[in-house]
Amino acid sequence: MTVKETTNPKPASPSGDPDTAGRPKRDPRDTPAMRQYFGFKRQHPDCMLFFRMGDFYEMFFEDAIAMHKALGVTLTQRTEGVPMAGVPHHAAEGYIRRLIAQGFRVAVCDQIQDPKDAKGVVERAVTRVLTPGTLVDESLLADDASNCLAAISFLDAGDEPECRVAIALIEASTGAFTIIDSSARAAPDELIRRNVTEIIHAESADGQTPARATRLLEAARIPGTPRPAWEFRLAEGAAALHAHFRVGSLAGFGLAEDDPALSAAGAVLRYLLETQSPGVTIDGSGQERPASDANSDRRQPTLAHLQPPRREPVGHHLMIDATTLRALEVERTIRASDADGALLGVFSGRGACKTPMGRRLVRDWLCRPLAQLDRIEARHGCAATLTQDARTLSHLESALSHVQDVARIAGRIGVGRAAPRDLVALGGSLAQNRELAKAISNALAFSDQQSQLQSLHAVTEELAHIINKTCVENPPAHLREGGLIRDGVDRALDEARALRSDAGKWLAEYQASLTAEHNLPNLKVGFNRVFGYYIELPRAQADRAPSAFTRKQTLKNAERYITPELKEFEQKVQSAEGRAIEREQRLFADLCAKAADHISTISAFAQVAGELDALACFARVASARGWVKPEMTSAPELEIREGRHPVLEDTLSGDFVPNDVELGTAESPARLALITGPNMAGKSTYIRQTALIALLAHAGSFVPAKSARVGMIDRIFTRVGAEDALHAGQSTFMVEMTETANILRHATGASLVILDEVGRGTSTLDGLSLAWAVAEELATVRAAAAHQPSCPRVLFATHYHELTSLEEQLPGSVANLHVAVREWNDEIVFLHRIAPGRTDQSYGVHVARLAGLPDRVIARAREVLSSLAVSHEGDIGVGVAATGVAPSTPPASAQLSLFREYIEHPVVERLRAVELEKLTALEAFDLLRALTEEAEHPAE
Ligand code: ADP
Repeated sequence: MTVKETTNPKPASPSGDPDTAGRPKRDPRDTPAMRQYFGFKRQHPDCMLFFRMGDFYEMFFEDAIAMHKALGVTLTQRTEGVPMAGVPHHAAEGYIRRLIAQGFRVAVCDQIQDPKDAKGVVERAVTRVLTPGTLVDESLLADDASNCLAAISFLDAGDEPECRVAIALIEASTGAFTIIDSSARAAPDELIRRNVTEIIHAESADGQTPARATRLLEAARIPGTPRPAWEFRLAEGAAALHAHFRVGSLAGFGLAEDDPALSAAGAVLRYLLETQSPGVTIDGSGQERPASDANSDRRQPTLAHLQPPRREPVGHHLMIDATTLRALEVERTIRASDADGALLGVFSGRGACKTPMGRRLVRDWLCRPLAQLDRIEARHGCAATLTQDARTLSHLESALSHVQDVARIAGRIGVGRAAPRDLVALGGSLAQNRELAKAISNALAFSDQQSQLQSLHAVTEELAHIINKTCVENPPAHLREGGLIRDGVDRALDEARALRSDAGKWLAEYQASLTAEHNLPNLKVGFNRVFGYYIELPRAQADRAPSAFTRKQTLKNAERYITPELKEFEQKVQSAEGRAIEREQRLFADLCAKAADHISTISAFAQVAGELDALACFARVASARGWVKPEMTSAPELEIREGRHPVLEDTLSGDFVPNDVELGTAESPARLALITGPNMAGKSTYIRQTALIALLAHAGSFVPAKSARVGMIDRIFTRVGAEDALHAGQSTFMVEMTETANILRHATGASLVILDEVGRGTSTLDGLSLAWAVAEELATVRAAAAHQPSCPRVLFATHYHELTSLEEQLPGSVANLHVAVREWNDEIVFLHRIAPGRTDQSYGVHVARLAGLPDRVIARAREVLSSLAVSHEGDIGVGVAATGVAPSTPPASAQLSLFREYIEHPVVERLRAVELEKLTALEAFDLLRALTEEAEHPAE
């Protein structure tokens, strides 16, 4: 779509009150409809206003121009000086979706009165305000990802990273309401992990966004919506929760009346209510008044689906920061930003979930793995049962395949926007409760889910029965023409319908009688949507039309007429139809109200069904790919036999080379493994697959390995690849060091750290020194965790071979691994096999040749390399032992000449030690000669 430049003259501002004095009488903006428009625009100044006029939504003034620029919608003029852009009402959702994606907020202003009943301007009201975080409409949401709204509230004064922040999250489409206690530092990661798309926060007294809120929003890269500060007051928060949940005390939700988190909880609830509730209407003079709503088929949003707030206990989940999620490509790949090729993609292929709830839950489980042994083992147990019992699995899956997106249907019922199809889908889904329970009835591992399904059974059965008995199986998309309620359910409806179905008979008889009476054998009685009932005669017979026939329409070859009798019949049928539709709408509303009464049961059913689906998906993937159940322990160990990369093993199929990992075990006590090897050998793959296996194990999934023993992990840290953070004004090296600093400060004895090429972003000497110090720090002292002196489990891939001497210097703490390579006829063959020990070859020139560098450049590089190697030979044995670098000292090796410029020559040390007064002149001369020689010929 091209964004066309507008040639429209600058419009007058719509913000001016049309009623202000001084405006010329015949101002084109001073019509009743435009006065209404301005009134709504005043109510929603920050929104693009979709103003319903007949079959179109129209935008005016700046909105029209913005719409034209953003989506290329044709810009016209309503009258001169009033720019206008319109979209057909039935296509509005598509435009709204694209506007929201571009960061617009949209207010939809509908006609809430039948134009036929309007005296003057038709009654309108804003029925929906759509913002990124408050979407509930199916067409505006991806079904495999949750979409959350968050409110943040800083609980301490000051701007410290550890300042406490309360986060209240609502997933508007399902009603999940969560409170999280966080810190300013951890908040962005929390928000990103949960797919928050909009954050509301308090404005400062001068209406600005406070600096610390701005920083948090920028770190999370999520748009913010400022709200008045009073909405974040504790008392307001408590009052909002009391009022909505109709409770006198919040104790039942585990919240004290003065819980600091109520500030955020109240604000998020208030905002959601505001966006979902219809506003007051505005009449043709621009005055506000309550909506009569008499003729609207819109049901009031009750937000009945909103669940009471649940505080998420700290420490129940393994912490993965946003950097790590991105670097490990859990949800999407870095390059294509796509689930295909990411860890999530593994669970979307064969064995994928059957329900949207399952799909969303798998995503959530992968992004927020568990940190509690018993809960992890419960998931493993369920997945194991299903991998061993194919019948139970297929029974479960066949029941799940009939379950629709119940969680979001509950949401649409709660906001009064459920469609007939939602209701029918709900009935069909709830009816599966019995089948789901039956499928897992013999599976001990599923006893929790079994008892939950049983406790829901009575209500789900009843609701399913009522819905399925009342509604047809294939309902229409909307109720404009009826067709949802079965025959025989309601007498009044049946009677109204009988009239309509008798119409055919009556018309046939009427046609026969007219034909006979007037001897017009080609006369036909018919119906069309626009003109209603008619009598049609071929043009050639038009002159024989009796006088009682009134001409209604002229076609090319025919004339159409109406008679008083036919008109009367038409009115009777129409009023019967109107009655039938009205009746259906009432019955539909009753059913929705009934469902709303049991919404907590519906949400609970959605939760259990989603869980069963996610577990079935884990089992399917495990079986299809030969994954194993990991053994979880509480020791700080990690032992993986023949581990594979979950994504690459599929891409490379049989060619993937499995590898072992052993950290912190009895046989291999070192917790830090240094992995050296040439580029392209497979170092990154190895360390990433280890982190992914640990993550999968904690998510409750099986893992791609022959066996795995995983000691519980509290956090996974990564420092891999140079991610582009130029947007934040940081250089690649700065990002690398910031992430490394974060790891050094926060890794504990229970953490898993993977580091790829730390120190690459700066000069070799700097880089080597930093890599050295970082490895040493991780393997020995733990600065931040002085009270907890154990080291994290670390995989450290590096091209600085010098680091491998840490193995000798920190015995038992560091182990060397390398990736095996075979040299063959001046070529290298990557074996991708990890083996103990070090390597001292980089094979950079070989890799460059593989990458297609011109032969001339390769030959020259070889020349340069060999001359450098010769000149470095003399460096071997530089006496670095006396340099005082502690606690471990860099080794003597060829490349350590790099350190020379920073290391004192040993001669200096010896000179310092000389006690001149104790030397004879001859001794002094001998010493001087020795030192001179040593200075000239080092490393002797
Ligand atoms: P490095 O980090 O050492 O530069 P990578 O881990 O990026 O190397 O691996 C380079 C390529 O080698 C990968 O894209 C993959 O195609 C292949 N590779 C890596 N590990 C394996 C393995 N275990 N089995 C088979 N191929 C592998």
